[in-house]
Amino acid sequence: MGILYIVPTPIGNLDDITLRALKVLREVNLIAAEDTRRAAILLSHFDLHTPVTSYFEHNKLSKLERILSALEQGDVALISEAGTPGLSDPGYELIRAAIARGQRIVPLPGATAAITALVASGLPTDSFVFVGFLSRKAGERKRALEQLKSEGRTLIFYEAPHRVGDTLADMLEIFGDRSLCAARELTKVHEEIWRGTIAEALQHFGAKALGEFVLVVAGALAADRWDEARVHAALQVELAAGASASEAARQVAEVSGWHKRAVYALLNKEGS
Ligand code: SAM
Repeated sequence: MGILYIVPTPIGNLDDITLRALKVLREVNLIAAEDTRRAAILLSHFDLHTPVTSYFEHNKLSKLERILSALEQGDVALISEAGTPGLSDPGYELIRAAIARGQRIVPLPGATAAITALVASGLPTDSFVFVGFLSRKAGERKRALEQLKSEGRTLIFYEAPHRVGDTLADMLEIFGDRSLCAARELTKVHEEIWRGTIAEALQHFGAKALGEFVLVVAGALAADRWDEARVHAALQVELAAGASASEAARQVAEVSGWHKRAVYALLNKEGS
């Protein structure tokens, strides 16, 4: 019985392949690839000559049996067009079927646009929701956003460039204006990590969004903004470290979601 390796591939910069991914792709009997042309470019770049078969959205069920029987003969690596297979990409059904047959699954860590965008966003990373793609249908998209409206955790969306404008407009209508990071063309020559609010993003990208986008959106405002006790504690730390009242208020305002004036008012109220 072979092993099914889940192998992330670069999301733009080929240098992001891992040494282990190369080793696995070299040694398996077969690579099941979402996009055989992209796979050919990757394999030729790294001088790999492993046989490739297609496994994409529209043949994923008919291909299941073939890949499962290949797995009985030896190891198979699953790759997607870019990033981590199974994450807004084909893989889920194959992985489930392989698990059901008692096959060993070995996942390799590696590139994924969602986590790369999240950690650069400056929004809370302690807890987050990966939403992936919203529906192309306006009604379903709005319903999904309504359900996420009071979600306190940071939200991560994938979006196609020609839908970024509509999605931002729907977010503004349903979420109100919140902090957002648009991570565009990650790891590529024209990488842009844009930070602002949803309304500002709509103005900036609305009609002319180009390239691949991850939209990272602050959770519901209550969760985004520190409560008074946390602001108070942070002020004490700054003051104890020798900061002036104004400097402490500025520093705490930068990280707490409070305006400097409000932090300053709290400081004065407490006489702290
Ligand atoms: N499996 C992939 C992953 O692990 O990130 C995601 C595949 S999904 C079909 C493609 C979407 O991922 C794009 O529409 C975009 O939202 C996001 N994406 C992929 N590469 C990206 C990049 N280099 N920069 C920004 N977003 C990217």
